[in-house]
Amino acid sequence: MRQSLGDVLPEHGTGAATALRTLVRAVAHGAADPADPLCAAHLHTPPLALAVAADLAASALNPSMDSWDQAPAASELEAQVTRALAAEVYPRHTAPDAIVTTGGTESNQLALLLARERSGTPVQIVCDESAHHSVGRAAWLLRLPRPVTAPLNDPAALDDTLTRLHGPVLVVATAGTTDTGRIDPLPAIADTTDRHRAELHIDASYGGPLLFSAERRHLLTGLERAHSVTLDLHKLGWQPVAAGLLAVPDTTRLAPLDHTAEYLNAEDDTDAGLPDLLGRSLRTTRRPDILKIAVTLKALGRTGLAALVDRTCAAAHDLADLVDKHPRLELYERPTLSTVLFRPTGASDEQTAEIRRTLLVQGRAVLGRARADGRLWLKATLLNPHTTTGALQTLTELVEGSTPR
Ligand SMILES: *Cc1c(COP(=O)(O)O)cnc(C)c1O
Repeated sequence: MRQSLGDVLPEHGTGAATALRTLVRAVAHGAADPADPLCAAHLHTPPLALAVAADLAASALNPSMDSWDQAPAASELEAQVTRALAAEVYPRHTAPDAIVTTGGTESNQLALLLARERSGTPVQIVCDESAHHSVGRAAWLLRLPRPVTAPLNDPAALDDTLTRLHGPVLVVATAGTTDTGRIDPLPAIADTTDRHRAELHIDASYGGPLLFSAERRHLLTGLERAHSVTLDLHKLGWQPVAAGLLAVPDTTRLAPLDHTAEYLNAEDDTDAGLPDLLGRSLRTTRRPDILKIAVTLKALGRTGLAALVDRTCAAAHDLADLVDKHPRLELYERPTLSTVLFRPTGASDEQTAEIRRTLLVQGRAVLGRARADGRLWLKATLLNPHTTTGALQTLTELVEGSTPR
């Protein structure tokens, strides 16, 4: 990379063709390719070609979503698509809405901010240890008390925790944890939070697209009982980064974000009927990330998206089967979404970590790692719907071949 880059800012430029060729090639050559079935460490998605094409068009058109005069059509598209996606989460509400974010991190931040603004006093976050690290960081950013952890899969323990706490509480549950892909028991959590008059936010960054799948939607039962829901379509939605959303059951819930700047949304313009966009984000200039999402929804439809979700989850079950049948590999649990944790039987944590590092440094496979039940596991996060059983077989062979004896 250093060689192809040469002088970063030459006195006289190389011209477009050379610059594009050398730099794009160098980055592609040294990329961790998320489409490679053996590159499965993170929730790092192989983007759909059509979403990439739409994203390129968005860059060329360059509408900015902070004021109507910069994005008349794109802002109308955003309004329609965000409402439609929010209605997937909140089908029984009359005015569900969603705002577009840079991903799960920003959506979780905004969810905590809205909870703080609703309560008027510092709100106490309660979450499971498996909650995404961005939840604790958002509490820090917003000067909220440090989150209290409670095992959300144990309703009695959550009940105890909520009984002990005084003042406003926001429980943050996860639909698809980053480490194992587990979905917290949403209906039981919603019952408990209701009983204590606590509020509920659900981080469905990973599991949200199960909504499209008739076969798997039931796993998200209870989602609509949350005060807000994080979605992140640059994971199981195959969008290029960034494609986050924060859904709320009613558009009025977004009112705390309202903001006026004379040059972008003067009151007399708003009174005269021009759409007021500034309150749809904390950002000002903002990319039309909705375009690639809209193109994808239209091109694939619900059944097309469901097929991708189902195939990806099926690939995880294939891998779990291979591990299960393997005499020298141990499976952590059957996958809920598309994450599979496994390790060589009898290996130490150090050896397990070493296997991951060896495969990574040799450029043969990129696996993640996760701690579960006090042990370190190799983590395969499958996001390529076209992953074959043969490729997964290769993955298990590579792990076995790198296991010290
Ligand atoms: C990925 C993820 C996030 C963070 O999303 P970004 O898009 O990386 O900001 C938050 N929560 C969960 C559960 C995630 O899997």
